[in-house]
Amino acid sequence: MNLILLGPPGAGKGTQAKELEEGHGLAWLSTGDMLRSAVASGSEIGRRAKAVMERGELVSDDIMIAMIGERIGRSDCARGFILDGFPRTVAQAEGLDSMLAQEGRSLDRVIEMRVDDDALVDRISGRFSCTACGAGYHDRHRRPRIEGVCDSCGGTEFSRRKDDNAETVKTRLAAYHDQTAPLLPYYRKRGALATVDGMASIDEVKQQIAAVVEAGDV
Ligand code: ADP
Ligand code: ADP
Ligand code: ZN
Repeated sequence: MNLILLGPPGAGKGTQAKELEEGHGLAWLSTGDMLRSAVASGSEIGRRAKAVMERGELVSDDIMIAMIGERIGRSDCARGFILDGFPRTVAQAEGLDSMLAQEGRSLDRVIEMRVDDDALVDRISGRFSCTACGAGYHDRHRRPRIEGVCDSCGGTEFSRRKDDNAETVKTRLAAYHDQTAPLLPYYRKRGALATVDGMASIDEVKQQIAAVVEAGDV
């Protein structure tokens, strides 16, 4: 099963992708995490992406398409993958379609997570995550069960993202509405789109997504 989680920054894509990875054995592919590793390692791509990410703008389509193309070819994606944060433009969606078609693969579902802009600012400003496994937490909405210890992996180191600040969030939301929202009609037209209420609790959203996934192929 190959899925896309589509939604604005802070919608809960990473939170639900992690659940799907653990519950369904799908590979969780977060382009944001891939880019942050590239920045941390100081690679050529990281050097090109760093300032763009700090401003909250989008990294170029050619970099992103090449990055995801390399990633979905790896063996852990053979059983299926969840794309979190990709595609973010129509050009990226078209690039993905042609890569998958070349390999005789296809998308099963595109799941839109709908969340109000006001709630996104609250979610992003309280977000932190486990450095070891990427599990996401929130100062008020989702604290680790044992204070200071990751529920998923037992890790004890957490980090906050540099771009999770009020100023950058505005630019990221604008990028979503201008460049990413056009993907909704793109996927709706082919009958692949399912929408869940991302304003609901983490557990309720998880159940809504499970219902879509269990309904099977389109
Ligand atoms: P969020 O989960 O808050 O939406 P991400 O971690 O997905 O944020 O992305 C962080 C930043 O990385 C984005 O603001 C953007 O600069 C860059 N980025 C991630 N994925 C893409 C993509 N598919 N296309 C262009 N830029 C991307
Ligand atoms: P995205 O990957 O779409 O940017 P995240 O999964 O990182 O979003 O979630 C953003 C923040 O909101 C995190 O701190 C997460 O713990 C929290 N969160 C996720 N889903 C919900 C929800 N349904 N209700 C309340 N908080 C949530
Ligand atoms: Zn962890």
